[in-house]
This record gives sequence, structure tokens and C-alpha cells, in this order.
Amino acid sequence: MGMATALEFLPIATPVLERIRATGRDAFGNAATPQVREAGLPLRCCLRLSRDGERVRLVAHRPSELGGPYAEVGPVFVHAEACEGYRTPHTFPAEFRDRRAVLRAYGADGMMLDGVLAEPGQSEHLVGRLLADPRVDQVHVRNVVAGCWNFTVRRAST
Ligand SMILES: [Zn+2]
Repeated sequence: MGMATALEFLPIATPVLERIRATGRDAFGNAATPQVREAGLPLRCCLRLSRDGERVRLVAHRPSELGGPYAEVGPVFVHAEACEGYRTPHTFPAEFRDRRAVLRAYGADGMMLDGVLAEPGQSEHLVGRLLADPRVDQVHVRNVVAGCWNFTVRRAST
């Protein structure tokens, strides 16, 4: 029994969000118009679910900075305007704990090493288990059906 590795839970980087909100376009040139949508959408800016009446933007995002054939672009929701971001980066996002998820583990070369289906309540434990493998650089938590990225998990740098 060892000490659990400290992990870091990463939303979309702030400069990327600022650019989307300032220009009204995502990094791929698509219009990212503010809209009011149903509650319960996973927001990739502050890692919680949307509430009734909140304005969001749907944007294309490439979550992996590692490159390679697995670094795909996918659709994600973010708050339309500046939000508080994710304030507890060393804690698993609470509103994602009880969602089903696909967990994908990538090596530092961007290649996928493993993929796991997590039932509600299992993601936090399984993410830790995947990152206990030293070959794994990062794990993506994703939606089950469409595979859309929710957030990235890495070992904390300090
Ligand atoms: Zn937000």
C-alpha cells in the first residue's frame, strides 16, 4: 500500500477560452455563437454541468497537445462568457463522478495505450489506476456514446 499519486484535472486552457470569447470563433474558424441550451451539459471551462438558462458556446477543440494520429478534434461546450474556471485542480470534478465515461490513456508520444469503460462512481478510481502505469502520460475522461472529451488528467507536476 503506497501513497496515492497526486493528480491534476485539466479543463480547456484559459488562453484558448479567452480567444474563443473574444473572437466568437473556435481555433478551427467555426462560428461559436452564444446560445441558451438545456441544463446538464458538461462544461469544459469549469468542469461542472450547465444550469438552467446559462449561455454556452459549442466549439471544436483538440484536447491533446501531444500530437500524433490520436490527437483528434471534437465538439465541446464552454460557458459563453468568462467563468470562474476550475478552482480545485487536484480534485476529481464532483459533477463528473457519477457519470458513465470512457477513459483513454495516452503515452507521451500521443499513442493510445488503454481504454476503459467506467460505470457511474468508478471514474475517479480507474483514472488513478491508469495513471499508476508510468508509461501513461495522460488520461482523457470522455462521454460514452460520442467519445467527446470532458477533461484531461495528469500526474501533478510537483
Ligand atoms: Zn465555465
